[in-house]
Amino acid sequence: MSHYTANLRDIEFCLFDLLGREKVLGTSVYSDVDRDTAMGMLEEMKRLCENDLAASFIEGDRLGTTFDKSTGDVTVPASFKKSYDAYVNGEWWRLDAPVDLGGMKIPPSVRWAIAEMVLGSNPAIHIYASGYAFAQVAYVLGTPEQKQIAKLMVDRHWGATMQLTEPDAGSDVGAGRSKAVQQADGTWHITGTKRFITSGDADLYENIVHFVLARREGGGPGTKGLSLFLIPKFMFDHKTGDLGKRNGVYVTNVEHKMGLNVSSTCEMNLGEHEPAVGYLLGDV
Ligand SMILES: Cc1cc2nc3c(=O)[nH]c(=O)nc-3n(C[C@H](O)[C@H](O)[C@H](O)COP(=O)(O)OP(=O)(O)OC[C@H]3O[C@@H](n4cnc5c(N)ncnc54)[C@H](O)[C@@H]3O)c2cc1C
Repeated sequence: MSHYTANLRDIEFCLFDLLGREKVLGTSVYSDVDRDTAMGMLEEMKRLCENDLAASFIEGDRLGTTFDKSTGDVTVPASFKKSYDAYVNGEWWRLDAPVDLGGMKIPPSVRWAIAEMVLGSNPAIHIYASGYAFAQVAYVLGTPEQKQIAKLMVDRHWGATMQLTEPDAGSDVGAGRSKAVQQADGTWHITGTKRFITSGDADLYENIVHFVLARREGGGPGTKGLSLFLIPKFMFDHKTGDLGKRNGVYVTNVEHKMGLNVSSTCEMNLGEHEPAVGYLLGDV
């Protein structure tokens, strides 16, 4: 028996007796998912969580990640990778991916009921699988070329990070000092240091797209002067997604935490030794 038992009776009570979700399920934009389908998904996720996902929770937390300072690579225990793969191979990522790219539209309440079980059984799986939701950001806000990056992120199951925090720029995110300089080919070179970056690296995926806040050269002070850049770990062919050379964004340290040790919380360096090439999201 695993450490986790999902309380499906309680979830069903909240969704249907309390929130009356059957009023929206099976109708309009949610026409593909009626109450029976939603319950079927919840039952399947309960089974997956109590078995495949929960299986590596204790070992993942005890062993944590391994960090190779010479390469900046982070590895997770094999047992955790097996649990993560069970989630991805079960196609649960479709709940977060853009509908046009193979995603599935369900009400946020049902999405969170499913997430509640993943987070209870093995929270780092939910956290590492954020690439699909980040693809949604690139797909909605991106240029046509960046929508193609979103497609590659989903099709090739790439990871993602959000890089806001810097030393001395946490709550006061507008104090960030990372800098972006435009290049003749339209790309940007970003330099700076980011701290506490969740999933900064892991051997769960072939590539990671970092969503990084930086100030364009000449940009004003505070949050208004910040822009969001997409910076891949590996450069890639924009049509096929085939990987090219390593980009200049590296993990320089992994934080020691009291728990959730299999989720890498990283210090990242951008552009110190080689350019960190990025794309300005939405060209704005
Ligand atoms: C496990 C973990 C994962 C994280 N993952 C990410 C990530 O993926 N990406 C990312 O960008 N960041 C991430 N963070 C960083 C997180 O968002 C920051 O820790 C947060 O923004 C706070 O910044 P700080 O730690 O520098 O604290 P500070 O900003 O230094 O704040 C310290 C304390 O001072 C208080 N304080 C700050 N300003 C004021 C004020 N003006 N008035 C009153 N009180 C104030 C705060 O409430 C807090 O109690 C992560 C952090 C952790 C711990």
